[in-house]
Amino acid sequence: MTESITKTNLLGLSPAKLEAFFAELGEKRFRATQVLKWIHQLGAESFDEMTNISKALREKLNAVAEIRPPEVVSQDISKDGTRKWVIRVEGGSCVETVLIPEGTRRTLCISSQVGCSLNCSFCSTGKQGFNRNLTAAEVIGQVYIAIKSFGPMDPNGERQVTNVVLMGMGEPLMNFDNVVDSTQLMMDDNAYGLSKRRVTLSTAGVVPAIDKLREVSDVSLAISLHAPNNELRDVLVPINRRYPIDQLIDACNRYLEGLSDKRVITIEYTMMAGVNDQPHQARELVKVLRRLPCKLNLIPFNPFPNSGYERPSDAAIQAFKQIMVTSNIITTVRRTRGDEIDAACGQLVGQVQDRTRRSQKIIPVVQEEPGLSTDRRA
Ligand code: SAH
Repeated sequence: MTESITKTNLLGLSPAKLEAFFAELGEKRFRATQVLKWIHQLGAESFDEMTNISKALREKLNAVAEIRPPEVVSQDISKDGTRKWVIRVEGGSCVETVLIPEGTRRTLCISSQVGCSLNCSFCSTGKQGFNRNLTAAEVIGQVYIAIKSFGPMDPNGERQVTNVVLMGMGEPLMNFDNVVDSTQLMMDDNAYGLSKRRVTLSTAGVVPAIDKLREVSDVSLAISLHAPNNELRDVLVPINRRYPIDQLIDACNRYLEGLSDKRVITIEYTMMAGVNDQPHQARELVKVLRRLPCKLNLIPFNPFPNSGYERPSDAAIQAFKQIMVTSNIITTVRRTRGDEIDAACGQLVGQVQDRTRRSQKIIPVVQEEPGLSTDRRA
């Protein structure tokens, strides 16, 4: 007879949920701490490795639980050291995860959904359509996989991942519970132990979810603004029609309330030639950003086939930046990384079995089997 019970995947349980799991088994709390460390600090894949746990409990765990990361389809390393993983999740779709080394920092960019439901006009993930939310195990599994790719995990060794940004595929706030559980694992001292300043959730601006997030978390927040007024933002980021700029800025200010006064919101602004890169738009953006403690990150548009947009010239980007800087807005320009392995912002496409049929309305960007070459440009 085949087993029919579904085992609980402990990889995705937040610290609180793992405690509840052990309580239900009639076990002590500290078992949760032990198992948390085994999984997330030592990279354990089976209960049999957990030598400080009795054989009887290990057997019990084997019967009802498992540690099951998603499957790695491929790993690519680009010349600049950027690594990209294609990860297959249950149901057959794939998502992408990218590790970007820069000086002493190693930032992992993870996905939260298979595809994305928001359909921002300049984002290739959006063009793939939407399939489903990732489970918490699939979200945190990306961190687990990235760290394990460097060899045995060592909690006392050098950190292989110093920062995590939820800037891969998907809108994290549309997958609220699983994303929050995963960020709790990232920030828990018995799991990945990253500080709240080193875990950043990026959102296109789901206003009610920003307020809800503040009730349960204080992760760093980044906002994908991309336009200085509603008229343009309505076109680039359609969710703006529901939650316009003023409401979004108010929500950001509420998010910062009660946090240390040194905390700021990161504003992301993808620059597209002739669309949002003009000096008068920079001046308009200054007025918007005056209302919020923030820093600005300008992202030169990363092209993909049939996007209809182009990257501005370096001169245009620098002129825009100069206007912001002279207005005392801290501004950085994001260097494009991992270009030749299609690992740059907005280039993460995975393999989305689209449920929205949106992808059929455009010419497909990807026409290949997962695991083959990752160079999608002709
Ligand atoms: N949905 C979330 C998380 C995605 S983050 C959000 O919108 O914030 C990915 C970041 O890259 C966002 O700021 C997004 O707007 C930006 N981006 C998307 N497509 C891009 C492209 N082609 N070139 C440069 N940046 C892009």
